[in-house]
This record gives sequence, C-alpha cells and structure tokens, in this order.
Amino acid sequence: MLELTPKEIVNRKGLTINPAKTCQPIGAMYAALGINGCLPHSHGSQGCCSFHRMHLTKHFRDPIMATTSSFTEGASVFGGGSNLKTALKNIFSIYNPEIVAVHTTCLSETIGDDLNTLISESASVVPEGKLVIHTNTPSYVGSHVTGFSNMVASTIKYLAQGEGKGSNGKLNIIPGWVNPGDMTEIKLLLTKMGVPFTMLPDTSGVVDSPATNSFEMYPKGGTKIEDIKDSGNSKATIALGSFCSEAGAVELEKKCGVPASVLKMPLGIKATDEFMMQVAKLTGKAIPQEIEIERGQVADIMVDTHHQFHGKKVGIFGDPDLVIAMTEFVVSLGMVPKMMLTGTPGKAFEAQIESILTEAGLNPEDSLYQSAGDLFLFHQWMKNEPIDLMIGNTYGKYIARAEDTPLIRVGFPVLDRSVHSYLPIVGYKGAMRLIEKITDTLLDRQDRDAADEDLELTM
Ligand code: SF4
Repeated sequence: MLELTPKEIVNRKGLTINPAKTCQPIGAMYAALGINGCLPHSHGSQGCCSFHRMHLTKHFRDPIMATTSSFTEGASVFGGGSNLKTALKNIFSIYNPEIVAVHTTCLSETIGDDLNTLISESASVVPEGKLVIHTNTPSYVGSHVTGFSNMVASTIKYLAQGEGKGSNGKLNIIPGWVNPGDMTEIKLLLTKMGVPFTMLPDTSGVVDSPATNSFEMYPKGGTKIEDIKDSGNSKATIALGSFCSEAGAVELEKKCGVPASVLKMPLGIKATDEFMMQVAKLTGKAIPQEIEIERGQVADIMVDTHHQFHGKKVGIFGDPDLVIAMTEFVVSLGMVPKMMLTGTPGKAFEAQIESILTEAGLNPEDSLYQSAGDLFLFHQWMKNEPIDLMIGNTYGKYIARAEDTPLIRVGFPVLDRSVHSYLPIVGYKGAMRLIEKITDTLLDRQDRDAADEDLELTM
C-alpha cells in the first residue's frame, strides 16, 4: 500500500487511485432516462450495464431500466451488429418503448463497432413511428459527465427540427447533471415567471416517482419526443454548466440556429441571479415578487449565519459544473475554498476556478485545483493542509473518516444517504438548503469539540 507522506506529492500521470469520476455510459444512461418513453440500451457486455444500472439505482433509490446487447466472445471478435439487431427486435416486441437510446461501452468502442451503420442495418426490426438514437461513450476517455453531455448533444442532433425563429415562444433549458429535485426547482422558477419552456433532459417524474403499488416501465416524466423535435423552434437555449450542457446547446445552435447561452449551474445567490436575469432578458418577463421574497430570505439567512462561515477552509470535489458553482457559493459565504478537484478532464475547469478566486480578491496561488485528478491526490492535499469541511460525493467518505473532517454529501454519486435526490440545491430554495446543511455540520462539529463550560444553547 502507498504510504502518504505530508508535503510529498508524487507525480502519477499513469496511475489513478480512488477515481473522482465514474464511467461515461452512466452519464449517457442518466440523460436517456430524462426522455419520455425512452429505454436506455448499453451496447456492450452485461457486466457494464449491470454496474451502470446499479450505480444509478443506489443513488436515486428507484429501479433503473436499461437493456444490453449482451456481448460474449463471438460479438467481441466479430462485432456486435447481430447482437444489436436481435436486442432491438426483442426490446420493441417485449418492452415497447417509444425510443431506444443506445450508448457504447469500452468493449464495443475498442472493437470499432460503427453505430450509425449498425442502427441503419437494424431498421427492419424497428416498428414504424419508433426511434433509435445513439451516442459514443468509451469509458477510457472522459467521465460520466462527458457521457451525459454526449447523449444530450446526440439526442438533439438526431431529433431537433426547426429554424430557430422562436415560433413556439419557448426557452430550451439544458439543466446539466442535477437531481430531479433540482430540475423540479428550475421548472418551478420558470413557471412562476410565466415562461414556457422545454427542459432536456428532465428526469423528474422518472427517477423520483412516487410509490403507487403498481410498476410503470415508462413513468409519466421525461421530455416528450415532440418537444425535443420542436426545440429547434425555440427562442433560445440556456445551458446550465459548461461541461454537461454546452455541447447540446451548441449542437442546437448549429443545427437549427437557436441562440445558445451558457451559464453556471444556478447554485447560490449569484449564479441563480444570473440565471433569472438571463431568463428575463430572453423572454421580456419580469421576475415576480414571490421570487424576489425568496431571494431576500436567502440574503437574510446569509447575514444571520456569516459568522459561522468566515475564514473556514473548504475542499470541494466531484463533477466540474458542481465544483465550479459550489466554489463561487462558498466564497460568497465568506469561506475559503482551499482545494477543488474533479475527475473529469478539461482545462476550462482550472480557468473557471481561477477566475472565481481572482474575482473574489483571493490569490489563486493560495488554493489547489485540478481537473482529471483523483481522490488520492485530494487526500494528499488534505494531509498537507487540513481543512474544516469537505463538500462532495460519497467517494470522499473514507478520507473524511481518516482525517476526521466533516463531509457534506452533494453531487453524484451519493450512495450512502437517501432523500437527497428529491430536494434541490439549485435556485434560492436550494441555497437555503445548502446553508442549512453547512451551518448544521459546522455547529455539530463545534458542539462536539467544545468544553462543557463552553457549550451554548444559541449559535
Ligand atoms: S468496461 Fe468500460 S464501460 Fe464497462 S464498466 Fe468498465 S469502464 Fe465502464
């Protein structure tokens, strides 16, 4: 076992230890679940599909449906064309989805299966009116974030139609990889403003469905196929998070001429303000008093609690769009973001973190931040400079325990807690929830460590 020595960071370009990301196909599968009547299909071996379904099922605590081309030795040598054709024939006759969204895996990519050709060669088994789309997700590059982004862009490439003249009067929203509770909150804000919209993907009503005592293979949620087709007639597209959503928005701009704007994930007061203002600008709609009150409440809460946050050192890890937005949020609370890491590659991560730190008047050289990093590196950083709080997914729990540092679980995956996927962290309501989580965690720690005579009833 590698021993950690404080101050000594080994250069390990060829070795990842405790990855801060997961497989590309998981992202493609999650994005596909956000299309109404869609069955995700994994073109590879059964093991990949089982792992991806299990990971999503554990995070959302809901059954995740997906099918597989079930590669064995034959398909691995001769190609998976006949497996895909047989799978599509069975899928449509047994499960009858409206659309099948195929993604590749390491194996099918390595043997070079050409999905465009294989899908057109399978046309005879696809019933009239049903659809098959695909995206490429080799897991030896990128991460689940790139898989999500690829599936959104491919869905638009396959399905979107229109001339970008805004004839349907709608806004397109690409929410990025967030939980259904976040998607619901974004939709609520738009509804309160009276803005018609299409959200793609939309996993609310799919992976957060209520208990009804009856199984629904295709829950009511998800973006309707006719809305995806019509997205080319919208006024504009807002992509929330450059890593997850920009590619889809750019694809729609290229294909149909719908203008794209890329914003941060609306996490915290500043990023939510930017989202609200952009919606107002694009639609001419005023921000209603109800939303202004919510914003005012968050500002009030920030004033009431700021003394808990001031100068506290934070480490944030996980998906790049979330880490970037969270860094901006903790800065606004008066905390010091000391280390930020994502497993997803992309130099834009470092550039955006640097710009947030500089804008806040902090010296970027006083913080550590890296894309395509792993949690072993994050742990080494913590060994060298202890922090007060970790913010990230379940993958950080062993580090939190080893260093006796509190961990707030956000992002994907959160495998060891429940309820999180139903409630938002975005928007003003999400900001309130995050502030509550952070203050509770810091105060619990303070109370735990306080001497008996210092323990107080108030904060
Ligand atoms: S083989 Fe590739 S796609 Fe399949 S589980 Fe492993 S990393 Fe993921």
